[in-house]
This record gives sequence, structure tokens and C-alpha cells, in this order.
Amino acid sequence: MIFRQLYDSTSSTYTYLLGDSGEALLIDPVYEQVPRDLALLQELGLKLVATLDTHVHADHVTGAWRMHQRCGSRIALSAVANAELVDLPLRHGDHVEFGKRYLTVRATPGHTNGCLTFVLDDKSMAFTGDSLLIRGCGRTDFQQGSPQQLFESVREQILSLPDDCLLYPAHDYRGITVSSVGEEKRFNPRLGGDVDIGDFSGYMNNLNLPHPKLMTVAVPANMRCGQPEGEAPPIETPDWAPLTLRFSGVWEIEPMALLEHASDAQIVDVREAPEFIDRLGHLQGARLMPLSKLMERVDELDKQKPVVAVCRSGARSAQACVLLSKAGFTQVANLAGGMLRWKVEGLPVAAEPV
Ligand code: FE
Repeated sequence: MIFRQLYDSTSSTYTYLLGDSGEALLIDPVYEQVPRDLALLQELGLKLVATLDTHVHADHVTGAWRMHQRCGSRIALSAVANAELVDLPLRHGDHVEFGKRYLTVRATPGHTNGCLTFVLDDKSMAFTGDSLLIRGCGRTDFQQGSPQQLFESVREQILSLPDDCLLYPAHDYRGITVSSVGEEKRFNPRLGGDVDIGDFSGYMNNLNLPHPKLMTVAVPANMRCGQPEGEAPPIETPDWAPLTLRFSGVWEIEPMALLEHASDAQIVDVREAPEFIDRLGHLQGARLMPLSKLMERVDELDKQKPVVAVCRSGARSAQACVLLSKAGFTQVANLAGGMLRWKVEGLPVAAEPV
């Protein structure tokens, strides 16, 4: 099984990717991170079957609808949430399959009335949303929250799992990534040890937290599974040439696509001068700007025009793309595989050394 824990630093949200036999699920995808998640799915060769949200979030907008638009994944959320556009309403005891594996749905209301925990088939992992956080839990003071319900949910549905079952929450504000049932039973200050419902309610009713900054935007958007209101904003894919976003965050252009679109772009070769005229040659119209000098000479480039960075293998030029983006260039792409692949594909190089 493939397992990845992904992080959104704006909302401190964890998104989980589970894959098996070419199929994948994403738990709690974040709207702004959809391009990143699509790139990872593509690089790992996985088809996204469904997105599952643990609940209607108040602190970020789900990527469920946006993913559905991009790859046809089903949108799964608790039936109790009564949100629009859900095509896989989940109930306690349901199974959600991916490849030969599945998650079991457990209802764990209390933070919201529609909170779910997803338990992997062999009970080695559980995704607890905000029902149980690492040494904490979600608040219970809005969105139909109830300390009573949350206490019962966590004790009966989560802490009843095997002690070595790993627990993955929807958030962690300190960057802690994982816990276990045994650990939380012993050390969770709100819900572990000898804490009883009276202790827990007292604790929860006196948190005195401000409401999440994004709440007034996020909750209505999440009641539509992340579909924007009115006309959907376009998904920001550069349109001057067919490009692929890599999981590393760099946009790539395939050699054949660059051959077709070379006249639309400024081609910057970031190798050292001797390499520019070695046996690999260089691209027609390429400008030699070694990586070590790129930032000094960046003003020679036009910010309004796309830039394609080229090097021997595609590694230095990927770094050039990062530097150019930081310098304010918005249309930057890396030539996939560099001059090595260009040569293997038998594409033309400039005849005369410059
Ligand atoms: Fe929440």
C-alpha cells in the first residue's frame, strides 16, 4: 500500500493519500493544494477513486469538488452533513474501497454532528479528522458540537481500536505527524487516562477560543464540497504551452511541446559556457546564462514572456525555475530531461556554436 501524509501550511491541515493496485483515495484534500495532489497522483501512477472529508471543515475549503472536476473522483462526506454535490454519502459501517484495500467508516460526532473516522481494513491506521488530535481534540463550541457526544465517540470508536493502531489527525499546529491509540489513551490530557465526562465537559466549555478566521467562507463553501460560489474560478494552468506540474512544484515542458512553442518563449540555457558548445549542443535561439550568474543577469529577461530553462539533465534548470519564480517570473517552465533527452528524441540543435 502507498501512504503519503501531505501538509497545508496555511491551515495546518494534513491530507492523506492512500493507494493500492493503481487506485487511490485522498482524505481531507485542501482546495489550494489540488495541483500539488494531482501532480503526486500522476507521478505515483494512481487513479483517484474518491475524496473523503472527515467533516465539514471551518478552517479551510475542501479540494473535493475541484478534484472531481479534474479527475472525476467521487465526493464522499457524511450523509448527516447534508451537503450539496456529495455523490458518496457515508454512514457508520460503510466500506470505501481502493484497489484491494478499504477503509471502514466510523461515525464519531461531537466536534461536528457529521464527523467521521476512517479505519484501515487491518486496523493499523485510523484517520480521526478533528475528533481526536494528537494530545488534543477538536473544539465543541460551534457546528453542532457536543462535549458529551465527542467523549463517547472517542472512547467508543477510536480509543477502542488496538493500542498499536496509528492515529492520523486532520491537523497539528506543532507539526507532530502521528500518534497511536495506546499513546493517546495514556497521555491525551483531555480524553485519556482517568478523565471522565465531567472533566472533559469542564475542559471543553472553557477553551475560550476565537472562531477560525476562514469560518464564514469555509463552512458555506464546504457545504457545496468546495465548489466556488457562482462562476468557478479557472484552475491556474499556464496556457501558452502544454505544461505538467511536478510534485516538486516546478512546471515542466516536454521536448516536443517546446519544439512547437519555442517562438513563444525565451529559452535560457543555464549550463556553463563550455557545455553550451559540447557534443550535446544547444537549442536554436537559446541564451546562455549559467545558473551561477542567472540572478545577476535576470534583468536581461522579459517578465511578460514565458521562460524555459534548459540544462544537461533538467536538474540545474529546475533550480533556475525556482530562482526565476522567486524573482517574480510567473510563466516559467523546465525542459523535461534537459539536453540529454532532447538529444535522445533526435530533436534539432543549433548548428553553429554561439
Ligand atoms: Fe474541524
